[in-house]
Amino acid sequence: MAIRNIREIGDAVLNKKCKEVKEMTPRIRELVDDMLETMYEACGVGLAAPQVGILKRIVVIDVTGEDPYVMINPRILEMSGEQTGQEGCLSVPGKSGIVTRPNYVKAAAYNENMEPYEIEGTELLARAICHELDHLDGNLYVDKVEGPLMDMTDLEDEEEE
Ligand code: ZN
Repeated sequence: MAIRNIREIGDAVLNKKCKEVKEMTPRIRELVDDMLETMYEACGVGLAAPQVGILKRIVVIDVTGEDPYVMINPRILEMSGEQTGQEGCLSVPGKSGIVTRPNYVKAAAYNENMEPYEIEGTELLARAICHELDHLDGNLYVDKVEGPLMDMTDLEDEEEE
């Protein structure tokens, strides 16, 4: 496993649409392992493949630090409710902003063995799923921020996604 370089806002790779994964290969398995390691090392709660420069529909999420989800070719099945709160991104270091997201999300994805599964989440998990899936279509949260993008030095307890 290896820590990969996290691409930052302004890098064109973050604005591109990612391609579906057709089959698991040793290379993709290594990418997934590296993405998890890179996410933990950066203290993030999620990471999408384009953030490490790979245009594939792969996301890793762990909002508790001990419950990682690997989401390959994820798609949202249902969402409801609304939550408005702080959001950050490892590709937009040092910043955060207020974003409104659904408070409940149900999604379908494949795990690292390409077995299909469904995931349901509320609050931070729902927010993380929406945020990371946006990355796969080249969208960054900064385009959804209500009000100004803030410096995180002013906010101590924020989590980055
Ligand atoms: Zn992000």
